[in-house]
Amino acid sequence: MDWREFPDWSEKVANWSAHYHQTLRDRPVRAQVLPGDIEARLTDWPPELPDEMSQIMDDFMQLILPGMTHWQHPRFFAYFPANVTPPSMLAEMLMSVMGAQCMLWQTSPAATEMEVVMVDWLRQALALPAGYKGVIQDSASSATLSAVLTMRERAMGFCGNKLGVAGQGRLRIYCSDQVHSSIDRACWIAGVGQNNLVKVPHQGPLHGIDVTAVKQAIAADREAGHIPAGIIGVVGSTSVGASDDLGLLGDVAAEEGLYCHVDAAWAGAAMICPEFRQQLWSGIDRFDSVVFNPHKWLGAHFDCSVQFLKDPTSQINALKIEPEYLKTTLDGITNFSEWTIPLGRRFRALKLWFLMRAYGLESLRDRLRNHVVWANALCEMLRASPHFEIVTEPILSLFTFRCAGDDASQQRFLDRVNDDGRIYLTLSEFAGEKVIRFQVGQFDTTWADILSAHRVLEELAGELNRL
Ligand code: PLP
Repeated sequence: MDWREFPDWSEKVANWSAHYHQTLRDRPVRAQVLPGDIEARLTDWPPELPDEMSQIMDDFMQLILPGMTHWQHPRFFAYFPANVTPPSMLAEMLMSVMGAQCMLWQTSPAATEMEVVMVDWLRQALALPAGYKGVIQDSASSATLSAVLTMRERAMGFCGNKLGVAGQGRLRIYCSDQVHSSIDRACWIAGVGQNNLVKVPHQGPLHGIDVTAVKQAIAADREAGHIPAGIIGVVGSTSVGASDDLGLLGDVAAEEGLYCHVDAAWAGAAMICPEFRQQLWSGIDRFDSVVFNPHKWLGAHFDCSVQFLKDPTSQINALKIEPEYLKTTLDGITNFSEWTIPLGRRFRALKLWFLMRAYGLESLRDRLRNHVVWANALCEMLRASPHFEIVTEPILSLFTFRCAGDDASQQRFLDRVNDDGRIYLTLSEFAGEKVIRFQVGQFDTTWADILSAHRVLEELAGELNRL
């Protein structure tokens, strides 16, 4: 295939894409295949001679598509969303066409300068104080790892990269027992170690960290000769939407001189709506680093994770490396690869520009507000049902429930729901028990989809109870 054939195939793919999105409701949400099914359909060896593009496309439709779980399905209520909007997809296409590797200012000045501006647009949209800078990363996991490495380096007088962590004092990092597993993994990789990630119990209606217990843990660690290095807060945890009191937690970090990071990977998007900020965002200005994923709930094509930094100097000191082949001579430029772990960088800012311009914040707010209202309404419907019990109340658009029976029954019910295919849900754990999560966040979801989710849940729970 050469560039002359490209427009024709691009048009075919574009037409199929629109049709795919418009007819998603006719497909099962979760792939209905068994492990090994798709692998068995693929040839074991690479082709020596070229295949026709028409054959490759046919094979994609026949062999691959049945093995896809449809994340853009309007009845996808599992995990968190990964919304794809048409404008952000167009930007992704343009980005792919240019295939630019934007690691340094000079390797694509527009990418760097647009990243500076997009981070600042989002800073304003999320009501972070002026002065915060930021960088776009691939994932919240990478941003959190960057923050943990910064905590480590700061606590070790920026000698850890040189000396290694072996034989140093025990660095300690504090968070609640509700944080995402990316926090644990960041501590493994940074050499802090799982045993030095101090998980403090949660409390209250938002399941936020017990701040008194954090202070006690820090005092006990100092007494034992350990080295407190940082605090990690969460707004909108994955299991139940748990959210810490950022004001109180930030005060502890300030009193103790600790670097502090917040994981708002999912819930950060909702902070474009002023009415959610009072409860979930007060005190955010105390935090050194804040991560949120526009690729989850905001509609930026995956992947796109923004890390805001009150002062990027510490993170740059922790991560910057400048071999001869990466040196630049211009003054006053930003080389974003010095702020992150990977060197290579995609032009992710472009899709934020397309997204925010094509929708405007007000229409994005409308979507998110609907999701929150609908999640609350569904929660009330399930509360009124004899088949279900609400375990955690909605935090934004996420709540959890259980059906009748023990943990094994929750798994059985979930499997029945997901095998049915009309909706897709996932399980988590809260207070030692399995819970079924329901989150509303897909951009094409309508109130009618919520009503059909309700019908499916009632119907399948009724069936199981009759067995
Ligand atoms: N933090 C929270 C609260 C999450 O829900 C997730 C993923 O869903 C992550 C972090 C990890 O995000 P990523 O896949 O961008 O690393």
